Amino acid sequence: MKDNTKCLHSGYTPVNGGPRVMPIYQSTTFRFNSTKEIGDVFDDPTKAHIYSRFTNPTVDVVEKKIADLENGVAAMCTSSGQMASLMSILNLCNTGDSFISSSSIYGGTVNLFAFTLKKLGIECIFVDVDADEDEIQSKIKPNTKAIFGETLTNPSLQVLDIEKFAHVAHKNGIPLIVDNTFPTPILCKPINHGADIVIHSTSKYMDGHALQVGGVIVDGGKFDFTNGNFPDFTEPDESYHGTVYTKDYAFAPYIIKARMQLMRDFGAYPSGNSGFLLNLGLETLAIRMEKYCSNALKVAEYLKGTGKFETVNYPGLSDNKYYDLAKKYMPKGQSGVISLTIKGGYDNAVKFMDGLKMASNEVHVADIRTCVLHPASATHRQLTEEQLVACGINPGTVRFSVGLEDVDDIIADIEQSLEKI
Ligand SMILES: *Cc1c(COP(=O)(O)O)cnc(C)c1O
Repeated sequence: MKDNTKCLHSGYTPVNGGPRVMPIYQSTTFRFNSTKEIGDVFDDPTKAHIYSRFTNPTVDVVEKKIADLENGVAAMCTSSGQMASLMSILNLCNTGDSFISSSSIYGGTVNLFAFTLKKLGIECIFVDVDADEDEIQSKIKPNTKAIFGETLTNPSLQVLDIEKFAHVAHKNGIPLIVDNTFPTPILCKPINHGADIVIHSTSKYMDGHALQVGGVIVDGGKFDFTNGNFPDFTEPDESYHGTVYTKDYAFAPYIIKARMQLMRDFGAYPSGNSGFLLNLGLETLAIRMEKYCSNALKVAEYLKGTGKFETVNYPGLSDNKYYDLAKKYMPKGQSGVISLTIKGGYDNAVKFMDGLKMASNEVHVADIRTCVLHPASATHRQLTEEQLVACGINPGTVRFSVGLEDVDDIIADIEQSLEKI
């Protein structure tokens, strides 16, 4: 099936006389006829659902759909994108291990990797997204268990050369994890380019309607965890009656281990109702992404033409530093977010934002409605001007998330606000 069709049909096939729409299983637990049957499911939790702390039939449908869209073999939903990032690492790294991450990643992920994981004794070694293979290789240590990157970064919109990072990872026998939140599998399928694990904040385009926070981890199913670097996958799991993940669940050892250890123990799992809402967003994902891309390109071209901006950063513009990589990894379009720096710095950025009538001023991004954020006065307001510049945020920078309104109305809103400056 093609993506438009997968969005509507993957994961759920109604039985004869059954509900056409995937039902909401809003139930903590599931009933069995005998102690023997329950015991069998405890022996192999992939056989049936027992408890909604780590599996649920409605969420299961969503997981199958997302795995299919990403060309993966299995997926596990999480209660937030942050939890997907955290579990993607904890499933590979123990205290005393390290991993490499591109430094061009979402700010929340930087906090998680640089500060919180450090407290757990897991070291994150950052590398520039534009580093060459030798430089990435030079950061690898004997205890390095993974490489992490973000396809199209929020909010700096840099593009990850997935094949370059995958090459270094595989040369060292470790998997590449890619945060594919901004492109979604409709615009980019990192597994096709060598990524082993894909994660998402589903709070963004996948949910699409700004309804709920969520995340997902997808297992590409191709990485060889028996290569000697991952004893937790190849030796019996004492906490699960001696399960050997690469042997007992060879089709998707990564995701089964994540579910049976991390989700069982931490329980950051979405409810059936959350799965239902996420599925509703996914049903229109392919058709929405197409429109986000065409609207954003038109808005970016318009913004450039006004002469009121120092920079209009959108990887779909031909003079963008990442244009070639964007065309390679996201040939159908470069998503809906534009980062722009207005002439006149902080004051004009605030005037521009406050002058917008339709676009809303909010922390969210990738909403169905156009929304804007001024990092210098919001997410990064505690920083001094020097600190802002050091972390790549200009006081005049605005993150402009183009929605699905008629593009003429989005442009008219920008125009009337610029006129007041
Ligand atoms: C928002 C975001 C996250 C974190 O996701 P939450 O759902 O907010 O926890 C991670 N990565 C990227 C690229 C994001 O945009």
